[in-house]
Amino acid sequence: MQLKRTATMLLGLATAAFAQAQGNWPSKPVTLVVPFAAGGPTDVVARTLAASMTKSLGQTVVVENKLGAGGNVAAAYVAKAANDGYTFFIHHNGMATSTALYRKLQYDATKDFEYVSQAVEVPMTLLARKDFPASNFQEMVAYVKANKEKINLATAGLGAVSQLCGMMFQRALGVQLTEVPFQGTAPAMNALLGGQVDVMCDQTTQTVPQIKAGNVKLYGVTTKQRVKVLPQAPTLHEQGLKDFEVVVWHGVYAPKGTPAAIVDSMNKAVRAALKDPDVVKRMDDLGAEIVPDATNTPQALQAHLKSEIDRWGPVIRAGGKFAD
Ligand code: ASP
Repeated sequence: MQLKRTATMLLGLATAAFAQAQGNWPSKPVTLVVPFAAGGPTDVVARTLAASMTKSLGQTVVVENKLGAGGNVAAAYVAKAANDGYTFFIHHNGMATSTALYRKLQYDATKDFEYVSQAVEVPMTLLARKDFPASNFQEMVAYVKANKEKINLATAGLGAVSQLCGMMFQRALGVQLTEVPFQGTAPAMNALLGGQVDVMCDQTTQTVPQIKAGNVKLYGVTTKQRVKVLPQAPTLHEQGLKDFEVVVWHGVYAPKGTPAAIVDSMNKAVRAALKDPDVVKRMDDLGAEIVPDATNTPQALQAHLKSEIDRWGPVIRAGGKFAD
């Protein structure tokens, strides 16, 4: 009897302490895990949001890059991280596509996370090294077809959207190129700038400054409509790759079981960041589109993830490319 009373009392104390902890959240720095290299597209979005959230939360939001397996090392890490409200995760389409690409994953995208918010959508660009011998898209296609065995395609790893975009491009042309995986777009872009790889498909959040500086050749954008930040760039769809469309979407997650009140506070912090004029300007300059506020809910992110798993699963399986 005495033992039972003590246990009940201890439980009561623990619950009260936890409730107080939630009320004080955040009382120490919050980590935002990025699954790709620093300086790349996902990292740029993460650091821009983190700087704004640091102001609104009154605690530093620390960006931590965990690299490998096209984002899956980080996803597995976050899935098993403490669900105390101090670890969050920003990822992209890879959260959906990896489910079809990998035979075995160390996490389940639909079961191991709390959904915090959608954030931004980003077009991709088809690029080649500066001295690639093709001055427009038609010439590029002809050159790639004629030289397929010696062309290197850079990707951010199996599970990255650059790999998905590259796979769709190869399939549209009926060629198989040599894929060179990096641990994010930042190192892939360095290789493209250095001429160690030939072609790459990646987000405007990384490529716009290099395109504008004339450091790479641009052959088109992967959205159905032209994009504001690169108005002269035709879409791949209008240049003959009918219905070619890849848009990168970023979402913020937390380990499963993170208290609902903290998820809600983090959702508010992400939404506030997306309205911060500094964030709006930075995203605009890099061609990223902020997702409308009304759809930045945990429910909308969960529904979007599910629809993306349903959309890409068959496309990826038809490609017959899987990893362990
Ligand atoms: N853009 C990359 C991708 O292809 C990843 C990154 O953000 O570095 O998925």
